[in-house]
Amino acid sequence: CGIFGVWNHERASELTYIGLHSLQHRGQEGAGIVCANGEYLFGARGMGLLTEALSKDQLVSLREFPHAIGHVRYATTGGSELSNVQPFLFKSHRGDLGLAHNGNLVNAVRLREALEDDGAIFQTSSDSEVLAHLLRKNKSSDRKTRMKSALRQLKGAFAFVVLDEDSLTIALDDHGVRPLMLGKIDDSYCVASETCAFTATGAEYIRDIEPGELITLSDDGIDFDRYTDSEKPNMCSMEYIYFARADSEFRHTSTYTIRKSLGKQLAREMDVDADIVIGVPDSSLAAAKGFSEEAGIKQEQGLLKNRYVGRTFISAGQEARERAVRMKLSPVRDVVEGKRIIVIDDSIVRGTTSRFIVKALRKAGAKEVHMGVSSPPLKNPCFYGIDVSTHAEIIASQKSTEEIREEIDADSLTYLSVDAMHDVYHSYGSRGQCDACFTGNYPIEIIDQVLPQEK
Ligand code: 5GP
Ligand code: SF4
Ligand code: MG
Repeated sequence: CGIFGVWNHERASELTYIGLHSLQHRGQEGAGIVCANGEYLFGARGMGLLTEALSKDQLVSLREFPHAIGHVRYATTGGSELSNVQPFLFKSHRGDLGLAHNGNLVNAVRLREALEDDGAIFQTSSDSEVLAHLLRKNKSSDRKTRMKSALRQLKGAFAFVVLDEDSLTIALDDHGVRPLMLGKIDDSYCVASETCAFTATGAEYIRDIEPGELITLSDDGIDFDRYTDSEKPNMCSMEYIYFARADSEFRHTSTYTIRKSLGKQLAREMDVDADIVIGVPDSSLAAAKGFSEEAGIKQEQGLLKNRYVGRTFISAGQEARERAVRMKLSPVRDVVEGKRIIVIDDSIVRGTTSRFIVKALRKAGAKEVHMGVSSPPLKNPCFYGIDVSTHAEIIASQKSTEEIREEIDADSLTYLSVDAMHDVYHSYGSRGQCDACFTGNYPIEIIDQVLPQEK
């Protein structure tokens, strides 16, 4: 998912809309904006892409509000229905509350059951709703005390923006699994999942929000605090490999640069000769560039992407995914005909993309097709907010590299090693990375033991 928030700006809802638009790659199932003035909250949300989810009329109705948060949804927990589209908006005599979440809580089932036994009635099947109930249940009159105590009960990955009549609260879990960035536009602070939202809104990128941080924006200004002393940095490796936009920055380094380095490392580990290197557009072009530079093999645009097809991975059902990949990618015959080709992709999950690409390149006349993957074999599901599905669907959890090579019909298949991946992240100042989907070492205990997709 993607989140955005801005406090006290005359164009708050418009900036939020623009910010969300640039975060669309983080979620395409639904989108919404909740706004506040000093008295109440008001929101709009809908299913699908941002442009489908929110109508012009709805945007006009949000125009007068100076504070806003927004969300684009990519379902990991909870079904695909309007009630699960965020930001959530709760009305109560103690004041309204708006809430948007990126991540996945690993103890939400337990918390929810306890809250329900205590009388709470949930409006959604989303894990994110528990925070609202925990906040409401707390009797402290101090907002920050309530917030800290609620956040301390949550386990898992969370980047939260919470809006009430007179404050916008920003919180990141103590592992910092999901990215969350602080920015400034004119005299107002804003927050976004990725810095590309700052570029699009004209905001200045200040810094990455740290694991365990709790930031409050209000008319008193900005308040920096922590909800916990614990800090165990475990940023999601997939954000760098695949998920984030290439122009988005982490610690002031663009994802593009990091992907290029992953490609360079892969070139050092992949001993194959070829005539050209091609990257699978768009997310693997940077890795292909790095590979090409390091290996001294020229990079060509051998695959074209139809930009009107969304992220294929998100399509439901294998047949739909295959159709989507076929509609999305097509080889450039003149480039590939008669050539020995190294194809770089950022990851193999089910194998749908690689299987199609190898076949399509061969059909277009490629002499040899070697696959290089700029991440280690993805073997385990993610419980922290990225939908890498169940063990049964993940090809490398069932098969060896040689068996996968055979199945996708490539002449060779090379993955990046886990060590090389970490070397790259270290060299760009990372203080710790989650690599559980590759290694099975889950940094946060999976308390409920329920796979998001299996619920
Ligand atoms: P496969 O086709 O093997 O199932 O998935 C691999 C392709 O999907 C790669 O081209 C990669 O860029 C993309 N991909 C990998 N992981 C994810 C993910 O978690 N979410 C989405 N939306 N796409 C992914
Ligand atoms: Fe990211 Fe993988 Fe960790 Fe999930 S398990 S947070 S996808 S690195
Ligand atoms: Mg891809």
